[in-house]
Amino acid sequence: MTAKASSDGLMEEIVGLCKRRGFIFPSSEIYGGYNGFYDYGPLGVELRNNIKQAWWRDMVQRRDDIEGLDSTIIMHPDIWKASGHVDGFSDPMVDCRESKLRYRADQLFFAPVIVAGETIGYVSVVECPEQQEIAEKAAADIKRKAAKQGTLEPIVLKDYTESKPEEYDLVPSPATGKPGSLTAPREFKLMFETKVGPLADDSAVAYLRPETAQGIFANYKNIVDTGRVKIPFGIAQIGKAFRNEITPRNFIFRSREFEQMEIEYFISPSADWKALHREWIDTCIDWLVSIGLPREDISEDIHPEDKLAFYSRATTDLMFQFPHGEQELWGVACRGDYDLMQHQEHSGKSMTIFDEASKEKFVPHVIEPSLGVDRTLLAVLTAAYTQDEVPNDKGKVEQRTLLKFSPKIAPVKAAIFPLLKNKPELVERAQALYKKLQRRWNVFYDASGAIGRRYRRQDEIGTPFGITIDFDTIEKGRHRHSARPRHLRATPRD
Ligand code: ATP
Repeated sequence: MTAKASSDGLMEEIVGLCKRRGFIFPSSEIYGGYNGFYDYGPLGVELRNNIKQAWWRDMVQRRDDIEGLDSTIIMHPDIWKASGHVDGFSDPMVDCRESKLRYRADQLFFAPVIVAGETIGYVSVVECPEQQEIAEKAAADIKRKAAKQGTLEPIVLKDYTESKPEEYDLVPSPATGKPGSLTAPREFKLMFETKVGPLADDSAVAYLRPETAQGIFANYKNIVDTGRVKIPFGIAQIGKAFRNEITPRNFIFRSREFEQMEIEYFISPSADWKALHREWIDTCIDWLVSIGLPREDISEDIHPEDKLAFYSRATTDLMFQFPHGEQELWGVACRGDYDLMQHQEHSGKSMTIFDEASKEKFVPHVIEPSLGVDRTLLAVLTAAYTQDEVPNDKGKVEQRTLLKFSPKIAPVKAAIFPLLKNKPELVERAQALYKKLQRRWNVFYDASGAIGRRYRRQDEIGTPFGITIDFDTIEKGRHRHSARPRHLRATPRD
């Protein structure tokens, strides 16, 4: 029997496995950890690198229309003025004055409790998969306590950014359950500041980039001038980004230091952007499936027009069923010519390109697929995490944990086991194979313990291939279990 762990506790189990087997550790753990920062251990760094390499291969190296880039993390501060980040890059947040807890306004939901046409109170809930259920239960409680007769109207949750000033004192804090302690939504600057150079005055202020995209726009001219590209074309970049998130949480889903894989895909202003947008959404979904995410766990969230930034034509987020609910994994935005126009205006450098095909000069529009490495890694871990029951060496049925990674991204590609460690001919043969495979792949050699236990250890870290060297190998040249990923077999290994 193979089953997914229930979503309650699944995150805890993934966090535990990651720590135990050396995928991910809390940053600065010996000093008590540091909220919003994580370190990747020996297996984590392999998995992370494999995800990035797969993306780079598929999005850059195997495409004729995309070029790669690696720009600096700290850039001229004017870039962030032009992009709008200095003035606008902030999330509205809400403080609870009593509990001192802080919430992102767009993740705090509230609704009036209306009975027979009269508002008798408010309910609030922090965004979660069960938010509607929780709010309805709280509303029924309010009605019962108020001994109010009549029909309770449906609870329509809105996020706190949509609250009106007269509602601030009426919405209960999710921490205390009582109204009166929530502040109005307030802007919270998300960019980390630093100082560059020996002078510590205001002119030295610089920023750690909150996205890799602006490095692409800032280099667009350079890449156009190399003469290799023609419309439509893309520039791709993988790199660290930093955001002083108000409420970093859900493990590596929302952290303060993370990595992005972004593409700016430049198109003609007269191109059929809707069709190209659709094409990119499909490309992104296909890629996620190619690294092992189940198609049915990916959905599309199309942003309603009235919620789009003024320059944006359309945005579709690819959502994934994370352990904490369905959340954004990959944003695919049509940003028009906003960014290039802003840089043209602020830098005074022309951002026009001459399009040979149409003989026209224009500032291109962009489609921006933007994906987080860490969120992808969490999605991959979520999809791979499985528990099943197998008999142990003594025949007793035990529950075991395994990670079913696609071989494309698995941190260890194969494990090589000599059946017995005290038989030199087996050990020699196994070592020789191990050394040979090691030239190309990250493989693992394990000679200690019962063979079943050795397989179990590899199952837990998602190694797709196990190769046992036994006497058949020596005599008949055959390996056991070398055919295809064990977890793709119809029946579990005995
Ligand atoms: P969210 O609404 O979840 O904060 P966003 O819309 O601000 O995300 P974008 O600015 O579009 O995100 O960033 C592009 C991608 O970068 C996201 O889809 C996500 O995969 C990743 N990302 C953004 N913020 C974080 C973070 N704090 N931690 C990890 N990954 C992130």
